[in-house]
Amino acid sequence: MHKLARLDHRYVWHPFTQMRDWLKREPIVITSGNGAVLRDVHGKEYLDANSSIWTNLHGHNHPRVNSAIQKQLGKISHSSALGFANEPASLLAAKLIKTANGPSLNPHSALRTPHLAKVFFSDDGSTAMEVALKLAYEYARRSGRSKNPKFLSLEGAYHGDTVGAVSVGHIDLFHKAYSGLLFKTDKVMAPYCYRCPFNRAKPQRADARTYAKCNHECIDKIEQKFAVRRKKGNPYAAFVVEPLMQGAAGMIPQPKGWLRRVNEIVRGYGAQLIADEVMTGFGRTGTTFAGHQEGVQPDFLAVAKGLTGGYLPMAATLTTQTVFDAFLGDYSEFKTFFHGHSFTSNQLGAAAALASMELLQNQSSIRAREELQQALNQELAILWSLPNVGDIRQVGLIAGIELVKNWQTREPFDLRQCVGIRVCDAMAKRGVLTRPIGNVIVLMPPYCTTPKQTRQMVRVLAEAVQETLATK
Ligand code: PMP
Repeated sequence: MHKLARLDHRYVWHPFTQMRDWLKREPIVITSGNGAVLRDVHGKEYLDANSSIWTNLHGHNHPRVNSAIQKQLGKISHSSALGFANEPASLLAAKLIKTANGPSLNPHSALRTPHLAKVFFSDDGSTAMEVALKLAYEYARRSGRSKNPKFLSLEGAYHGDTVGAVSVGHIDLFHKAYSGLLFKTDKVMAPYCYRCPFNRAKPQRADARTYAKCNHECIDKIEQKFAVRRKKGNPYAAFVVEPLMQGAAGMIPQPKGWLRRVNEIVRGYGAQLIADEVMTGFGRTGTTFAGHQEGVQPDFLAVAKGLTGGYLPMAATLTTQTVFDAFLGDYSEFKTFFHGHSFTSNQLGAAAALASMELLQNQSSIRAREELQQALNQELAILWSLPNVGDIRQVGLIAGIELVKNWQTREPFDLRQCVGIRVCDAMAKRGVLTRPIGNVIVLMPPYCTTPKQTRQMVRVLAEAVQETLATK
């Protein structure tokens, strides 16, 4: 075993990992990367098929992002935002606000469309969500909407691992153990069309697993939740959602119109909308922010992961002037938002983010993303021929492939069989790295991925499924 692997085994505790299994074999130790390729300590190359847990945008070692960080390094790496402003953070805040109030929103919509005006920086997706939750909670109290503000989020929701973010999360496997630590929130049915209880129609052919037409019963469920809370005299402060696709829930896309309609309900009941675009932001779904595809603008927009192109841990929560104003007052009124982190507004992160956003918005990179999206779509189609592929869900450059015992019955594998983990292990042996979500295999390529690399990711996935489930 390589000496670095030995050190890892001896000292490092890995996230979301059963360490007893981890310690049974030599880990892949990454030493370098270029574009969509990662290289390990033995010189073996792998494709980064989940963009290093959904963070990387333009590829590893990108000259423009590298040079922006290096340039900033020559000036200063970090000074505190507690007491001081800095150059790249101010520029980045302005750029985020301009981009988030993007042109795809309809200014003539009858619906109240919040204008995002202020940026609160933090460190990662979880902290960006904590900021949104605390601000929404306190705003609801200060504006007189509620003495005891409550939140509603979707079944299967995942918004991070800090205690507030876990409280609005609803994945029992991750969250149940900590229920005693959490504040109580409500959950409501998610639009998981593939397993919709209102649609029991059995698929007829292996290549025609489309969803039956529906009456959007899941949207009615959301409206009912809002109505009940209002009747009880304690209306929701906010609805929390990942726009267009729920990630860690298993890559669950929302049908067209779902978000638009849900936004109307949230607005109709006078609640606020918290959009978690930690995964969906920065071009992943086809537009810079996913909500824009449905003409939806939240009161709080949480971003992280791809903010810096996936180079450094930095996050942001964008909100409105109205929310900001609720925290203004004489110092002696103690209306200050008493919250912040040591590395808030970090200069290296902000410099990387500015370079990444510039790349993101250039025309050739937009075109390349569209082409990659199409290439991925075409390649994924080959997977329909596998009997264990139940569903293929793609939104932009995010794909989830749900493996089942039998596509005709949709019967899921027991999680204890570790089917997703075994398939990803078989993929790694063939030089493609990704992580499963239960029985769902995720493909989320960096934007620089070539058609050949895209093909390799999907072909390797197919081979790994056949080998693991012995269907070859
Ligand atoms: N929200 C969403 C939608 C996420 O996917 C994640 C991370 N996978 C988070 C929040 C938490 O982000 P982080 O891991 O950076 O804290």
